[in-house]
Amino acid sequence: LIELRGVNKYYGQSHVLQDIDLTVSRGEVVVVIGPSGSGKSTLCRTVNRLETIESGRILIDGRPLPEEGRGLARLRAEVGMVFQSFNLFAHRTVLANVSLAQIKVRGRKKEDADRRSLRLLDRVGLASQADKLPAQLSGGQQQRVAIARALAMDPKVMLFDEPTSALDPEMINEVLEVMRQLAREGMTMVVVTHEMGFARSAANRVVFMADGRIVEDRTPDDFFTAPESERARDFLSKIL
Ligand code: ATP
Ligand code: MG
Repeated sequence: LIELRGVNKYYGQSHVLQDIDLTVSRGEVVVVIGPSGSGKSTLCRTVNRLETIESGRILIDGRPLPEEGRGLARLRAEVGMVFQSFNLFAHRTVLANVSLAQIKVRGRKKEDADRRSLRLLDRVGLASQADKLPAQLSGGQQQRVAIARALAMDPKVMLFDEPTSALDPEMINEVLEVMRQLAREGMTMVVVTHEMGFARSAANRVVFMADGRIVEDRTPDDFFTAPESERARDFLSKIL
């Protein structure tokens, strides 16, 4: 479903993605971990074409990423993205936040979009909060709205970039539980996270990055019980 081949990206002189090869198949959950600055966010952003690359190929469903225009808008809809900060529109209700892009990008009628939004809000446990403003919700609730908003676009794949790292501890689990549910339903997911419990229990593969490279790409069992690289052992010893 997602294929990166020999992808390289620079910011000025710094080579932040180095010869990245990565395949994510339909229904797979791939957790990306690694030290700060290793290129995890950049990797997510290149898949969504929020960043350009200097060389290599990125294919979604066998097709190269569109450069611009309509194709790009469709790509952004097909690749749902959830960030650390929720980026909700502060002056719109929860319902409107979930409906807006459906109307603008997908061209749905407001009533259809709202109906769908309510169904998704129900799925993330927030049907009763639809008429509130984002500021009236907890961080965990806001992040679940952001997930519902991405799902409303019928994405083929969901990218999560540290979705729980801005949350208070007691709210982390409610967001992870929504993500686990999505994984069980067969959603293809790429998840950057420091939640090792999630990686162990929900991931099909763990990708470990360091210095812009993929250093390991293995099952969670293999990775956590016997990391091959010094970098990964060092990283795990610091966070576990
Ligand atoms: P973290 O765990 O802290 O989120 P990360 O693995 O997501 O780190 P990236 O944000 O992808 O790392 O950054 C990779 C490298 O690219 C870092 O060295 C960072 O300083 C650099 N970088 C990121 N964004 C930019 C930018 N817009 N301009 C210049 N350099 C950048
Ligand atoms: Mg990051």
